[in-house]
Amino acid sequence: MAQNEIWYETLHAGFGQYFSIDKLLYHEKTAHQDLIIFENAALGRVMALDGVVQTTERDEFIYHEMMTHVPLLAHGNAKKVLIIGGGDGAMLREVSRHHAPEQITMVEIDAGVVTFCQQYLPKHSAGAYDDPRLQLVIEDGVQFVNQTDETFDIIISDCTDPIGPGETLFTSAFYAGCKRCLNPNGIFVAQNGVCFLQQDEAINSHQKLRQYFRDVSFYQAAIPTYYGGIMTFAWASDNPALRQHDLTTLQARFIAAHLPCRYYNPAIHTGSFALPQYLLNALAEPGGE
Ligand code: SAM
Repeated sequence: MAQNEIWYETLHAGFGQYFSIDKLLYHEKTAHQDLIIFENAALGRVMALDGVVQTTERDEFIYHEMMTHVPLLAHGNAKKVLIIGGGDGAMLREVSRHHAPEQITMVEIDAGVVTFCQQYLPKHSAGAYDDPRLQLVIEDGVQFVNQTDETFDIIISDCTDPIGPGETLFTSAFYAGCKRCLNPNGIFVAQNGVCFLQQDEAINSHQKLRQYFRDVSFYQAAIPTYYGGIMTFAWASDNPALRQHDLTTLQARFIAAHLPCRYYNPAIHTGSFALPQYLLNALAEPGGE
């Protein structure tokens, strides 16, 4: 790809989104994926893996605030947090804003994503890789959760779509491993696609997670460059109460946490668990359960 070319996302057959490459910053095949980072006048710096948009400077805050502050404030006292994937560093940035965690473990399969996102997307990690609580592991997330002897209060699967190395992060082997290393009262969340266009992903995750967790659902937010409607985030725990905090409790925790948010607030938190009827119908159908 060169400067002033048009970059087309290849996630869906027959339709999609495109970006002008106003300035090409990096484009190489890493050990695992095709990694491109470029500047776009409308969205800032954009990073894509294997032809699929992973993150843009302009709208990443929505996704990263929702994938961190919802489980962390719902838990209320998470000491050990595990991030699977997250190579661009923004998930780590948002988790590190919380003072309660004593250890943040990040398991990313592709060292190239960490290296080149630190270099070309510095606003994403914003220095979070220097957090002394970080333990960075370059490994396949499935392998890690099935072999580690550590346990965690929160597991955040900040994975790609189920293509390439990300495919294994939507399997029963991965979910069983997460169940294995999640503490009592622990919470698992995962990026689970745009349900209007990738409904099977939600059904698949729902079906598999219910084999391991008592309370499985989704919450949602609309992120412009994950186009096609709301993105669903899988939620799994063994304590349904964790998903049902009242607004007063969340407001108290949010104020105490002093989080500088641009999307998350307690009302958004509680409202995000409301799901469209078409998704609820699909999840209730035989095979969806
Ligand atoms: N926010 C993005 C989204 O919603 O599509 C995901 C961002 S993040 C860049 C996705 C990360 O998952 C990438 O850095 C990729 O290298 C990593 N990844 C993919 N498969 C993995 C695996 N099996 N184990 C660990 N990390 C993985």
